[in-house]
Amino acid sequence: MLTDSHIHTYLCKHATGEISQYVDAARKGSLTEICFTDHAPDPDGYDLKHRMTMEEFPFYRDTIMELRRNTKKPAILYGVEADYYNGCEKFLRPWLAAQDFDIVLGSIHYIKTWGIDNPDEISVWESVDLEATWKEYFELMGKLADTKLYDVVAHLDIPKKFGHRPSSVVLEKYAGPALDRIATAGMAIELNTSGLRKPVKEIYPSLAILEMAEQRNIPICFGSDSHQPGEVGYAFDKALTLAKEAGYTKYARFNRRKQTLTPLP
Ligand code: ZN
Ligand code: FE
Ligand code: FE
Ligand code: ZN
Repeated sequence: MLTDSHIHTYLCKHATGEISQYVDAARKGSLTEICFTDHAPDPDGYDLKHRMTMEEFPFYRDTIMELRRNTKKPAILYGVEADYYNGCEKFLRPWLAAQDFDIVLGSIHYIKTWGIDNPDEISVWESVDLEATWKEYFELMGKLADTKLYDVVAHLDIPKKFGHRPSSVVLEKYAGPALDRIATAGMAIELNTSGLRKPVKEIYPSLAILEMAEQRNIPICFGSDSHQPGEVGYAFDKALTLAKEAGYTKYARFNRRKQTLTPLP
């Protein structure tokens, strides 16, 4: 029914299982389409611990393409999750233009050198100002959108992962301008169910932010952010309910980075 637009592979060094097991899991879960979106390589040494190397990238591409040719159901899409950070365009702009991805997810995992969603760096949250951190995060999100390098914003409110949330007034003050820029860029956002597996126990983004996105006509898609086969299509029933609660009637599917809207089941 729905496309799972956010799936990792062991190449990123923090996911488990064989790539074919993710496909089998999708078939068992009656998903008709999935997109592999492993963490993009980066030749500048950025966050090396959580991504494939440049040398491994051709293997990633060839593996997904071969899987696509040999799999009837589900349909296999080929994508990538690429981080936005200051200066990332230098590599990403020419590199992305030279690839044949179906989906490019844009995400933010760092504020300066701090991995905001990294459990090993959770203690940093105790030493920073909560509002200033969310402000800075959404300013980065606005810049991400302005690059027009990406099709979909991944896990839009990921700073809430461990429960560090500002008031709704503060949240909306900073999320609003970022969403305006996401809308201007023609990007979609994902309903990422991995948040349900994290301490916050909530889909990214929250209902409040999703309603703000809906008001701006920003399309949605669905992603499990699977890092193991059993997570493919995770809690998509809950994501579908949330989408409808926010007023959505359609979702976005992608092919070669072209977006089409399909009615929600
Ligand atoms: Zn990952
Ligand atoms: Fe991510
Ligand atoms: Fe991911
Ligand atoms: Zn992710």
